[in-house]
Amino acid sequence: MEPGLSGSESERVMGSIVAGQAEEVSRDIQIGGEGIGPMICHLDMDSFFAAVEELDQPGLAGKPVLVGGVGARGVVASCNYQARRFGVHSAMPMSRAQRLCPEAVVLGPRHDRYRRVSAELMTILRDVTPLVEPVGLDEAFLDLTGSRRRLGLGSPFAVGRWLRQTVVAKLGLGCSVGIGRSKLVAKLASRMAKPRVEAGKVLPGNGVLAVTAAQEPAFLSPLSVRVLPGVGPATAARLEALGIRTLEELASAPEPILRRQLGRATATALIRLAAGRDDRPVRGDRAPRSVGHEETFPCDLYDRTLIEQRLVPMAEAVAAALEADARTARTISIKVRFADFRTITRSRSLHVGVATSREVALTAVALLRGVNLHGGVRLVGVSASGLVSTESGRQLALELWSLPGPPSGREEDALELSKLEAWTGVSAALSAVRAKFGQEAIGLASRL
Ligand SMILES: [Mg+2]
Repeated sequence: MEPGLSGSESERVMGSIVAGQAEEVSRDIQIGGEGIGPMICHLDMDSFFAAVEELDQPGLAGKPVLVGGVGARGVVASCNYQARRFGVHSAMPMSRAQRLCPEAVVLGPRHDRYRRVSAELMTILRDVTPLVEPVGLDEAFLDLTGSRRRLGLGSPFAVGRWLRQTVVAKLGLGCSVGIGRSKLVAKLASRMAKPRVEAGKVLPGNGVLAVTAAQEPAFLSPLSVRVLPGVGPATAARLEALGIRTLEELASAPEPILRRQLGRATATALIRLAAGRDDRPVRGDRAPRSVGHEETFPCDLYDRTLIEQRLVPMAEAVAAALEADARTARTISIKVRFADFRTITRSRSLHVGVATSREVALTAVALLRGVNLHGGVRLVGVSASGLVSTESGRQLALELWSLPGPPSGREEDALELSKLEAWTGVSAALSAVRAKFGQEAIGLASRL
């Protein structure tokens, strides 16, 4: 058992939340999703190194397996649940583990192999969202806030179950998934979803645990302060001296007293975390900060009409990239390089995220309208930044424009465009696009 989670404690909390899960699924279906709050997922492979060894050597099935150093000071790096039945856990000296479980199969680690499996895992997760933050080889946080609608799976629990099944099917390895509004809750949830050992028996975990906002207080309150990041034995002892053992007690502790004991920053951070206030973002390093396309013309262009026409396919490419990542952009920029290599950029930030080629094109053309092109142009580019992966930005935009469905006729398009115009203030561009492309411009969004 992990520090800070006693068996009965986690079971009690999980029991009530699992019981609520079926109800939650039906409620989600009724209201069309759980709302637009953050949805953070923590996925953690179960006894990763040992599980990879079991996968590669079917003869190990059912046997206790220890992976780690076998020398005098060797330590258990990973052990399967059969070994945990004997009280073995990772980070234990190998000699002690072998005394506790003499029949265990002891294997030296094959780090190259684990790294390859880890790379496969991260590829699977990045197919779900670019917002994947790996933690070591066998864990990752995913920000699924912006992917929910695309995944079309309804409740957070359903999303977690699908994700777990996908990983298990593709890798042949077990994992546990926790979902919540924050990294803290997601990580605690995945831990509680794990298999566990009780009275010498391996009990399969729930595999997936989704904690909704409403369930959060009941989930967090009874947990030991030890579950919080940064609370080791020393801090826990100091808190205990103040009579604080659980997150509930910590969340309601008088801040001045805690500050004297732990220092200002730590006290504030811990009180916030204990109350479930954790706004640490998922850092998907591979997630692009912007997407853009640019083109160098074979010869310098002087005709504004031609230059504007070249912007449209670039805007479409940018919009396609946004759509592929389930993102919207708050800022559209253009870049113009003149015949003499002088280069300028112009940007416009919008109140709501944009994603369609029409929106990107209109904004880009409007920006270009403000640029004197007399010197001749050798390159133009369009880019989108301020990327937002949340669905909320897009939803807001859709509500504000209240699109009556897919654009089908000119009247609807005109309505949509006039609202867009009002929002982005691109009336000049709008008439330019209409004048130059006519039907083509109206069909821009439909062609997507
Ligand atoms: Mg793990």
